[in-house]
Amino acid sequence: MSHKHSMILLYLIVAGMIAGLLAGWYFGEDVLVVKWIGVLFLNALKMTIIPLILAAVISGVASLGDIRKLGKPGGLTMLYYLSTTIIAIIIGLILVNIIQPGQGVEMSAAALEAGVQKAQSGGDKDFSDILLSLISPNLVKSAAELQLLPLVFFAVLFGAAATTVGKAGDNIIGFFEGLNATMMKIVGWIMYFSPLGVFALVATALGEAGGGAAFMNTILGIGKYVATVMIALSVHAVVLFVIMIVLSKRGAGFLKDMMRAILTAFGTASSSATLPLTMECAQEHGLSKRSVRFVIPLGSTINMDGTALYEAIAAMFIAQMYGIELDMYDQILIVVTATLAAIGAAGIPQAGTVTMLIVLSAVGLPAEGIGILLSVDWFLDRCRTAVNTWGDAVGEAVMNKYMISTDEDEIEYAMKDET
Ligand code: ASP
Repeated sequence: MSHKHSMILLYLIVAGMIAGLLAGWYFGEDVLVVKWIGVLFLNALKMTIIPLILAAVISGVASLGDIRKLGKPGGLTMLYYLSTTIIAIIIGLILVNIIQPGQGVEMSAAALEAGVQKAQSGGDKDFSDILLSLISPNLVKSAAELQLLPLVFFAVLFGAAATTVGKAGDNIIGFFEGLNATMMKIVGWIMYFSPLGVFALVATALGEAGGGAAFMNTILGIGKYVATVMIALSVHAVVLFVIMIVLSKRGAGFLKDMMRAILTAFGTASSSATLPLTMECAQEHGLSKRSVRFVIPLGSTINMDGTALYEAIAAMFIAQMYGIELDMYDQILIVVTATLAAIGAAGIPQAGTVTMLIVLSAVGLPAEGIGILLSVDWFLDRCRTAVNTWGDAVGEAVMNKYMISTDEDEIEYAMKDET
């Protein structure tokens, strides 16, 4: 896609989002007639995820040429993503301690009931579940349920193994390279549909919340909580922007080029569904295909800054609401558990709301507290997903710089890529 076309598409997506907000605001539930358009768009994106992630990660890992070269970029990528997640949580904790949004908030019986239901549907996840989710006994089932973490893990293993078996491995790597290029083409086509898709998804979400007036009413009750999450997300987005400038030496043009993916993340509330577009935008910006294929899929499965930040604020909000004091030790526990919960959360709508139970149970907070958050969660979920996607993109920009500057083969490889 030419730069001019990308810009036109970006403006159309912005227009789609604004039109969606207006339509949902004024027409309320009547706007649900366009729901199918959003579902169609979401399905089209989801359709590409499994083949794309397998092909991208396998060919990306294999392109490193030698499995011994995997350790450093792999380890650094994880370290980078872990650090930004912790920074996000600390920003959240600082703001929630200053603003104290939970002071004086009353919880209705209906909210309590909703919280109990959510807590039950979440099951009793704990740390070992996160580790267990890394390796799937049934990859087809994981794929069907869009659990990407075990697929990425398998693809890394597969790509690494393929480089060690000589000619037979070359054939299979060639196949996955072809599959990757073909899937990216399809993603490029789907992107043309995104303005309409984002319009329908945003309109439907607001319509289902009862339209603008109903939404404002809900927000008013816990406005301070919504504001705390929004401010913290904005601060973190700016911190990521600074990290991007300092560590990757890129400018505002990168944010502009990633905006199509970020807005789609807002529309879909799913960073996994957005993953194909994140890769497409990063590649179009000029980041090397090799790092895009390796770093972004990894990021989209383990890196969720927005989710981690939200979970920390929500846990503190619930504590404040119930009048439970959480000391420094508890807050450190929140940092650790929110990091793990964000890693364990799938990139699908409201996954973070469920994994938050890990945080709540670690610091001994009542799980029913979630109930009061649910009414605004469809909105905050979209905002945090946008930050999740921005976080993945910045990680990619940073690692791209590192991988190019440390690997002489990269230049040759990048040139081969362009042909
Ligand atoms: N919806 C988020 C995502 O897809 C996850 C969450 O925080 O619920 O990234």
